[in-house]
Amino acid sequence: MKLRQIALALMAVGAMAGPASGLYPQHFDAQVRMQDDLFQAVNGGWVKTAQIPADRSSWGIVGELRNQSEARVREIIENAAEQAGSDAGAAQIAAFYQSFMDEAAIEAKGLSPVQPLLERIASVQSRLDLQRELGALQLIGVDSPLALAPEVDGRDSRRYLLQVWQSGLGLPDRDYYLQHDAAMRKARAAYLDYLQALLSLSGAQPAEAKRRAQAVLALETQLARAQWSKADEYDPLKTYNKRTLAELRRAVPGLDWSVLLASAAVPDIAAVNLAQPSYAKAAARLISTQPLAVWKDYLQVRTLDRFAPALPKAFVTAHFRFHAQALTGAQEMRPRWKRAVAVVEQNLGMAVGQRYVAKYFPPETKAKIDTLVQNLLKAFELSIAELSWMSPATKAAAKEKLGKYAVKIGYPERWRDYSGLVVRADDAVGNLQRGAEFDHHYVMGRLNQPVDRSEWGMTPQTVNAYYNPSLNEIVFPAAYLQPPYFDPSVDDAVNYGNIGATIGHEISHGFDDSGAQFDGDGNLRMWWSKADKAAFDKLTSQLVKDFDALEALPGRYVNGKLTLGENIADLSGLQVAYKAYQLSLNGQPAPVIDGYSGEQRFFIGYAASWRETMRKEMLLQQIVSDPHAPDHFRANQPVINTDAYHQAFATKAGDGMWRPLNKRIRIW
Ligand SMILES: [Zn+2]
Repeated sequence: MKLRQIALALMAVGAMAGPASGLYPQHFDAQVRMQDDLFQAVNGGWVKTAQIPADRSSWGIVGELRNQSEARVREIIENAAEQAGSDAGAAQIAAFYQSFMDEAAIEAKGLSPVQPLLERIASVQSRLDLQRELGALQLIGVDSPLALAPEVDGRDSRRYLLQVWQSGLGLPDRDYYLQHDAAMRKARAAYLDYLQALLSLSGAQPAEAKRRAQAVLALETQLARAQWSKADEYDPLKTYNKRTLAELRRAVPGLDWSVLLASAAVPDIAAVNLAQPSYAKAAARLISTQPLAVWKDYLQVRTLDRFAPALPKAFVTAHFRFHAQALTGAQEMRPRWKRAVAVVEQNLGMAVGQRYVAKYFPPETKAKIDTLVQNLLKAFELSIAELSWMSPATKAAAKEKLGKYAVKIGYPERWRDYSGLVVRADDAVGNLQRGAEFDHHYVMGRLNQPVDRSEWGMTPQTVNAYYNPSLNEIVFPAAYLQPPYFDPSVDDAVNYGNIGATIGHEISHGFDDSGAQFDGDGNLRMWWSKADKAAFDKLTSQLVKDFDALEALPGRYVNGKLTLGENIADLSGLQVAYKAYQLSLNGQPAPVIDGYSGEQRFFIGYAASWRETMRKEMLLQQIVSDPHAPDHFRANQPVINTDAYHQAFATKAGDGMWRPLNKRIRIW
């Protein structure tokens, strides 16, 4: 009897100790059915009460994790100060932070740290001088209408190729200059105020500053008119235009390319990629025809804008009012320490990352994620085999590409060496300049060198992930691989719906409208049969139509073409993650936990991963310039197209999320 009791007690404990569901019912909105609006049903309770912090433009999972990452990095930086005596890397981190935190010293110096730059700009007397500065200022991170940076050659992934890319606008996108609705006019007015403030603060009289600011805005508007739309900017074929230097000179006359390239410290090269030829030609024409005085003002405001965060308070305030308040809706400035952390991250990110992973990334996580990634890759391969719209030959080619995926998890194998960078605790602007210059020489040094396939495009403490078509790799930084995105202590269903769908998303980018044009070696090459590519384009055009019809702000719709790649990745990522989850069950039914089946928890977990709310200014910026659709749509649209969701929640005609079987989109 006694033994039996003990056995029962143990069983009860065993049942209670089963994995938790990983759901957040406290975030649910009980008024909304999961069949009508999954995002709202899963997150609506939270959305109703969520307060976006005054210094932020959005709030949700990403914000919470970024907050956590920021706090951890701050601690790392403060510890670095204690180790500075014996550790040169720690000394750099500590000094960079200290220089930015020392507001009194920054205030006392006034404009003097940027005075040499302003004098250099003032001394420009000819078109050639102007071109020299348009190149030279790029060394210290000042934006230019023709931005120069090496990337992997789109058609030869073993080499780097210098990109000549459209840039140089103070507003987030060309649309901000060219559209005339109230929101855009308001943003332009804020920009004009900002330009005027920068000119006044650096010595111009008010009326004078206003006139000059208007002239700069007019110049930028001409640049904007010639710029390509964001959708075209993301098109890897349209933006691949390799030119020898002789061809470049013919294609973009009016500039002295030798001077421009040399002043930007570009090493000897044989060719460039002229990403937007028509724009470059127009920009060159403006550089040689618009008044030199306006160009000098343009250089001056670009330079002041770049260094404003490290200048006296009046500059910091002007910078905040435009960049954060007007463009993202933030109401308060971020605390100084957060801005200082960001500055250290931008300049010494990998040195911080090395310390971050030592403390916050357990080796077991790497192994667990690696297993998940392998399961997702397997599921994707099975999906390819099952496709009804693709021929066997193209399927074989797709499998071949999938087989060549590289996977990076957590942090890089080799850490970047910052030992040549001079950092001074009393020189905030100088540190920003030297940090940018150090980085500029580092990236320019890639030209004429073989491609470094071990390199990372994000630091480990970044809450994000990416696919890089040129290296055919998926990359998951450490800071992303933690609850609530990934929680090894909870049941699998939610993890597959959450981090699993993200892994699926990144894998799918290799097969989205852009990624599908690259082969497994990272080269732009048509590995599809013509008929299969046509079938793919037909399928994806339905997705474009779906998103074009979604109203994100009154009168403003999602751009289906611009967001297509992300929407393909979301849809396929979700569907392949579901398949991987099913495979992980090995034919056994998933347990019911908290009243939900495994299949239901998978989709609830997916919707929960999009928990976020955003200010309308930020939303506008996102719709105009970001290839990602707003989160609410990213949560629901893929689900609407997924049979397993309709089965799991027994949806029927009349439900908000209902879509008839023959209208559901499946691509991969
Ligand atoms: Zn993506």
